[in-house]
Amino acid sequence: MFAVALDGPSGAGKSSIAKAAAKELGFVYVDTGALYRTIGLYLLEHGIDPKNAAQVEPVLPEIQVELAHDPEGQKMFLCGREVTGLIRTPEISMAASHCSAHPAVRAFLLELQRELARKNNVLMDGRDIGTVVLPEAQLKVFLTASPEERARRRVKQLRESGQQAEYEEILKDIEQRDYQDTHRETAPLKQAEDAVLLDTTELSFEEVVQRLVGMVKQLLGVSN
Ligand code: C5P
Repeated sequence: MFAVALDGPSGAGKSSIAKAAAKELGFVYVDTGALYRTIGLYLLEHGIDPKNAAQVEPVLPEIQVELAHDPEGQKMFLCGREVTGLIRTPEISMAASHCSAHPAVRAFLLELQRELARKNNVLMDGRDIGTVVLPEAQLKVFLTASPEERARRRVKQLRESGQQAEYEEILKDIEQRDYQDTHRETAPLKQAEDAVLLDTTELSFEEVVQRLVGMVKQLLGVSN
């Protein structure tokens, strides 16, 4: 199996880029942020504070997280109920970021992620894929862009999906999540030593996809 680990901060465009590149390569795209979001949704729906490890840990065994892949992308299921759309709100983003800091939550999701990479050629996006989840990935890419550019893209994406979005608020949210994700003790967001840095601030969507696809094809020995 061939694994691409794609890490980077919130809003760097990882998911849309990974989705397009995976389609072109015939790989399964795995959005690991959606796993943390699904846990965040469960916690908020049950009145549990995502920051409080003592409240979060005991309920983990009750949480059934499943994912399915179809041509439209990854679908998420929480205890049998589809929650794909429900997990895309700013409240859930924050809950995901808070609960992802707990080692027990990360351990809970680790095997599920590794299992997917054992069974499929994957393009997996997250924060710790190259450093923790798939340290043996054949290709590691750290995708980033300036916080301002990431906020602009997120606003556009939210508005296009019919949600309200204020630039200043989204920028603050991105900076706060960057801080939380890079400063937590367990599996903080950081570039793996052997990862290729890809800064997308000045690149178009298509340029980034083609660079990523090109890197994989080169490693696979396939000509473009
Ligand atoms: O990628 P996305 O923004 O959907 O991720 C939501 C949150 O889940 C992130 O802010 C991060 O805290 C957490 N996350 C993580 N490790 C991953 C993927 C996401 O900690 N592999």
